[in-house]
Amino acid sequence: MTPSKGWVAFSAVKRAITLEAVLRHYQVPGLRRRRDQLQGCCPIHHGHRHDSFRAHLTKNVFQCFACQAHGNVLDFVAAMEKCSIREAALLLQQWFDLAAAPVSVCATVADRQNFELVRKEEGINAPLRFALTGIEEHHPYLAQRGIDPATAREFGVGLYRRPGLMSGRVVIPIRNAHGQLIAYAGRAIDGRPRKYKLPAGFRKGLELFNLSRAAAAGRKTVILVEGYFDCMQVHQAGFPCVVALMGSALSVAQESALLRHFYRIAVMLDGDVSGQAASQAIAARLSSRCSVEVVRVADGTQPDQLSRSVLRRLLVTVK
Ligand SMILES: [Zn+2]
Repeated sequence: MTPSKGWVAFSAVKRAITLEAVLRHYQVPGLRRRRDQLQGCCPIHHGHRHDSFRAHLTKNVFQCFACQAHGNVLDFVAAMEKCSIREAALLLQQWFDLAAAPVSVCATVADRQNFELVRKEEGINAPLRFALTGIEEHHPYLAQRGIDPATAREFGVGLYRRPGLMSGRVVIPIRNAHGQLIAYAGRAIDGRPRKYKLPAGFRKGLELFNLSRAAAAGRKTVILVEGYFDCMQVHQAGFPCVVALMGSALSVAQESALLRHFYRIAVMLDGDVSGQAASQAIAARLSSRCSVEVVRVADGTQPDQLSRSVLRRLLVTVK
């Protein structure tokens, strides 16, 4: 058996690169050493607790007690970059100059399992075999966030009261590029921890929220925002060609999807320092491959908090 072109011997990457080196690469601030552990704020979910994130240096694994992220160097990079395990391995090879590392050709059972794992991780978010029913589209939370009943109906969002993973949360259906339902995101509306809940194993780095609707709008310019509510707000302001990153990092898969469907990208992330920095980074990355514009949102605000008239003024060049 010969690995297909582009496959990665990621067990070799895991062996060659320590978690400590990866944390140094990201310049994660404020980590304190206790015996063979580093402890501090979680760089993945950017929490405020100073003890939620722990890296075990001898085992080369990490865990965050707040966001539940855990795993090895590949999982860490995948979580930081919101990308697949395979993309994480490729990034690590690049950063640590391992391009010439020997690629073991499935000589052992362990290697073969690793290749299969890479293939699986790289794959797709499979379509759901069910759809939630009994979603309440007329909930005060949606009105409070400025979402019209018509928009709620179109996106299928609303409160889900029945028992289960999403119980008591506002659920937001996520569809793939073909419009197939692949997951629900659950937004907490009562201040409970984990503002957004996604099903275990769902890889948001493989998707762009609202891509199927945006692509069907038949426009050349797409507006790129961070969150679900930004996306719905921009949509109801009269710009149906809008997609959300479900975060502020652009993965390789998301970049490919954007370039496949659109000619021009208007990047409109949040108006805070990190959002603006991310906007510039994304625009710089995309600018060699398509036409890009950064739409600045006032400091301290985000697109879903803006009135329709402000959004229309900001996006006047997009129509
Ligand atoms: Zn965390």
